[in-house]
Amino acid sequence: MRRVEPRSPRLIRVTLAGPDLEGLTVEEPAASVRLLLPASTSDELVMPSWNGNEFLLPDGRRPTIRTFTPRRLDAATLELDIEAVVHGDGVASRWAAAAEPGDQAAISGPGRGYAIDRDAPAFLLAGDETAIPAISQLLEVLPAQTPTQVHIEVARPDARFTLSGQARATVEWHDLPAGAAPGDALAAAVRGTNLPPGVRVWAAGEAAAVQRIRRHLFEERSLPRAQTTVRGYWKHGRAGGDGEK
Ligand SMILES: Cc1cc2nc3c(=O)[nH]c(=O)nc-3n(C[C@H](O)[C@H](O)[C@H](O)COP(=O)(O)OP(=O)(O)OC[C@H]3O[C@@H](n4cnc5c(N)ncnc54)[C@H](O)[C@@H]3O)c2cc1C
Repeated sequence: MRRVEPRSPRLIRVTLAGPDLEGLTVEEPAASVRLLLPASTSDELVMPSWNGNEFLLPDGRRPTIRTFTPRRLDAATLELDIEAVVHGDGVASRWAAAAEPGDQAAISGPGRGYAIDRDAPAFLLAGDETAIPAISQLLEVLPAQTPTQVHIEVARPDARFTLSGQARATVEWHDLPAGAAPGDALAAAVRGTNLPPGVRVWAAGEAAAVQRIRRHLFEERSLPRAQTTVRGYWKHGRAGGDGEK
């Protein structure tokens, strides 16, 4: 790891670097990489091995692997930035909060990203803080002339910051009320949004919340499935659960 830079009190950018990044390419925005981390911040990174069925550590434990958005890949300097939400209660969250230059991590990937329909008449991007890296990337590459609405739910008001590419879009931030289920404010924002005909929707966040958004779009708005991409990025109450399985 080369640099650690807070983007907001809740989002930390970590720059991974090293010759093993040679040959890594990320073609699409909002793709994913899997990050192998030490089980706790005081442990060394140990590479797992394949036993024919699954990857395991030498002591038989499952490796700690979490999924992140490859926010910036520089093939010339062999650097990869990821941005991690510091939510307090997870291996990756603690790792990002305590990360220092020289710490080790390993990555695999990339996983699929978002194929942009450049002829779409409008876009709606919606997500919680885990989706900020992907939304930022999408804002940088969506056609500048296409109307784009963005809704982002934050757990704390000071988690807001200016997104690169924000000038091209209408960005609304929504505070999650104390005690509310993750995604409640985001789901309400999507419900209250005017959806122009043909709009393409990309949404990501807590798995149950985005499932509610998916149902709303399909069942109440009759949005064609081909126009929507809705991805569970984490599961409330479950470690390592990204809702993607
Ligand atoms: C395709 C994809 C891309 C993703 N991109 C990013 C990204 O760029 N940045 C990013 O931060 N995350 C991203 N995520 C989500 C991230 O993988 C999960 O939030 C992951 O669970 C974090 O690991 P952890 O070790 O911190 O917490 P875990 O050990 O997995 O979970 C511990 C506890 O914390 C809870 N928890 C997990 N995440 C959060 C959260 N964000 N807020 C509140 N509670 C939480 C869990 O429900 C659990 O109770 C992405 C997920 C996917 C599938």
